[in-house]
Amino acid sequence: MNQNGPKRPTILMDGRPYELHPSKIVCLLRSYAAHARELNNPIPERPRFFLKPPSSLLQNHGRVVLPEGVGPVHHEVELAVIIGRTGCKVTEASAGDHILGYTVMLDLTARQLQEEARSKGLPWTEAKGFDTFAPVGPIGATRACYDWRGRRVQLKVNGTMRQDGNTDMLLFPIEQMVSSISSVMTLEEGDMILTGTPSGVGPVQRGDALEATIDGLGTLEVTVQ
Ligand code: MG
Repeated sequence: MNQNGPKRPTILMDGRPYELHPSKIVCLLRSYAAHARELNNPIPERPRFFLKPPSSLLQNHGRVVLPEGVGPVHHEVELAVIIGRTGCKVTEASAGDHILGYTVMLDLTARQLQEEARSKGLPWTEAKGFDTFAPVGPIGATRACYDWRGRRVQLKVNGTMRQDGNTDMLLFPIEQMVSSISSVMTLEEGDMILTGTPSGVGPVQRGDALEATIDGLGTLEVTVQ
């Protein structure tokens, strides 16, 4: 049980409370070229993804708990998509019909664990799946009220800018992400998609204050303990 907040965070979606209840959180990897390069990874030819467990969600103003003995934990600020209508094998043309809206998230990552897994050909699940590793909110906006294009995606640590990207730098449109993921697994109402992080990722320390901001979606604030 996550002791730092409710199991199911609530955000304000167009000003109304919306309880998050994803059956899965699907995360894009290397969807910004500059971030792929900074970790010496090739740029993928199509959207590639992994899963983060819903138990890793953390409410705005919550505390990220650093696990003992796993090495550096990195911040990754990301635009998140919330699925509003269940679908499988969704076309890019109809992907928008399946999107409820958007919010701000962090994809915290135990980077050393991830690198070890990568070098051994093992899954990344442990590196991505700790409790509190998916802070979210506090604001959401529905697709009718929000265009994801051209949005600044920023992350400050203790007031200093660490990541400053723009969704125009995404290698794949969100509609292609939805189509590609749903060609493998049904995207269910409430599921979330983390669209990947711009460059500038780096370690967080105990006591740090993280502020994740995306144009039109407000600022997510969490501390690290
Ligand atoms: Mg990420």
